[in-house]
Amino acid sequence: MSASSSVSAKASEAYDVVVVGAGFAGMYMLHKLRGQGFSVRVYEQGSGVGGTWYWNRYPGARCDVESMQYSYSFSDELQQEWDWSERYAPQPEILKYANHVADRFDLRPDIQFNTKVEHAVFDESANLWSVTSSDGKTVTAKHVILATGCLSNARMPDIRGLDGFKGKVYHTGHWPHEAVDFTGQRVGVIGTGSSAIQSVPVIAEQASHLTVFQRTANFSIPARNALLTEAERESFRARYPEIRRFAREEARNGIYTEMPDRGALDDGDNERRSKYEARWSRGGLTFMSVYNNLALDQAANDTAANFVREKIAEIVKDPETAKVLQPNNHPIGSKRICIDTEYFATFNRPNVTLVDLKSDPIEEITANAVRTGGKDYEVDSLVLATGFDAMTGSVAKIDIRGRNGQTLNQKWAEGPKTYLGLMSAGFPNLFIITGPGSPSVLSNMIVSIEQHVDWIGDCIAYMRDRDLDTMEAHKDAEDKWVAHVNEVAYTTLYPQANSWYMGANVPGKPRIFMPYIGGVGPYRQICNDVAAKGYEGFAMTTAEPAQKRAASS
Ligand SMILES: Cc1cc2nc3c(=O)[nH]c(=O)nc-3n(C[C@H](O)[C@H](O)[C@H](O)COP(=O)(O)OP(=O)(O)OC[C@H]3O[C@@H](n4cnc5c(N)ncnc54)[C@H](O)[C@@H]3O)c2cc1C
Repeated sequence: MSASSSVSAKASEAYDVVVVGAGFAGMYMLHKLRGQGFSVRVYEQGSGVGGTWYWNRYPGARCDVESMQYSYSFSDELQQEWDWSERYAPQPEILKYANHVADRFDLRPDIQFNTKVEHAVFDESANLWSVTSSDGKTVTAKHVILATGCLSNARMPDIRGLDGFKGKVYHTGHWPHEAVDFTGQRVGVIGTGSSAIQSVPVIAEQASHLTVFQRTANFSIPARNALLTEAERESFRARYPEIRRFAREEARNGIYTEMPDRGALDDGDNERRSKYEARWSRGGLTFMSVYNNLALDQAANDTAANFVREKIAEIVKDPETAKVLQPNNHPIGSKRICIDTEYFATFNRPNVTLVDLKSDPIEEITANAVRTGGKDYEVDSLVLATGFDAMTGSVAKIDIRGRNGQTLNQKWAEGPKTYLGLMSAGFPNLFIITGPGSPSVLSNMIVSIEQHVDWIGDCIAYMRDRDLDTMEAHKDAEDKWVAHVNEVAYTTLYPQANSWYMGANVPGKPRIFMPYIGGVGPYRQICNDVAAKGYEGFAMTTAEPAQKRAASS
């Protein structure tokens, strides 16, 4: 089947599927659908592939899931042949990998770069989407897939005077392509989330002085990054079938690691401390999986949080600075836990100052300084490490209109509503990869991306094989799923934090816990069961016979 056969005359081009975004999700979606014989057009607003790794070029940017796992598994040849150089590859290497994948699978001919999708309107009479892009063109497609990314809409802070700052302003999520050299400069970094925690130690080495403006102290675990040896790579590759299976089916967060079999309070103080020490020395995100109740039980969580707070006090020499760096307003792990290379030790450098904004928020930015607490901190350049309008931000920027002209933004005004994080009722044939209501940002995202891509591709093929015209989430299935996502979230400590998972970093955004916390394994099983039952919870309509459609048009 090709949508070209039923194209409305107005559109110049017609595809079976339009995919928005050419990050890891859009790239694999294209590969999958083409392999299934569909015609596909991908639109990407950047000038190259890679998404996150195309935009986030700030100093120190690298993945925090180990590269041997933060990589595609859909092609065994690819995972056997690609050599990751470090335990956590730096951004340029991940971008190189994305480009390698694009070349290896010949993806570029079907991707239109430098083109932003601005409108997607569902035509109920033709059961087709009309997609209009920044190049002024409109194409039609039977299906639209949003591979727009959970962390792709960089959030500019609303600070008085920012526009009048005379020096250079950089956002970590929109870093320039040319190298930025801070040598000899006074630099201010605003924000202390993951991007700041990665970039601060690197910028501190260049800058004559670095001032870090912190609103919320965050927990961070040492990465213990290192070069990978050939033996380590080989060992991983030999075990890939089991590692990938485990990550998909058993791990809650899509990362292969030991599964904890006990809670933090089941061990005595000494035993518990030695386990935390061992994970601290090993480094990385698996610190949080040492016990099975750190995300569930406040007293258990406190043991891990106290351990990290003590480590910060050990590392940071000035007790006042250490105190400000110790997180104390959220359970450990309830905001995305960061991993770092020498972040806390950086505050021992004579050229680094920490400014606590908790009691004195930034008042304004003047032509050459950041003003807070009645004091001006003079800077030549400003780095905004202020994160993203996560999960819904990029979707919201597109004018998406479904049945009865309803916009997705109207429907999601009080928070995103989806069935399985994949579709939203009233928006037929519109899929979201790692959408709100799916594990997405709580997981190794490539595991979640591959699962969604496979599910969506199989679903679209199912529709083709049965000559189905539309597929749409039932409102009651969606309502039940939204309630379930919420209910599971509130069995954990996560909603206690003012995190971007909750939309709390964006003024005015509804406070809803957006990702599904039930774990990637159980979630995959739910999605598979839904598909096995003929896509339970979704309504499907059969294509109208051509003559009937012609008669009614
Ligand atoms: C600094 C950083 C580090 C990260 N590290 C990890 C990690 O270690 N492990 C992990 O699991 N996850 C990590 N993530 C999350 C990361 O976003 C995902 O792992 C993954 O790269 C997402 O891929 P994606 O294709 O879904 O989205 P993205 O990579 O965000 O790609 C989406 C693309 O869609 C494009 N787009 C959006 N809207 C439009 C539009 N209207 N028209 C055209 N194009 C559009 C964007 O330009 C972008 O290129 C990290 C994120 C950041 C920001």
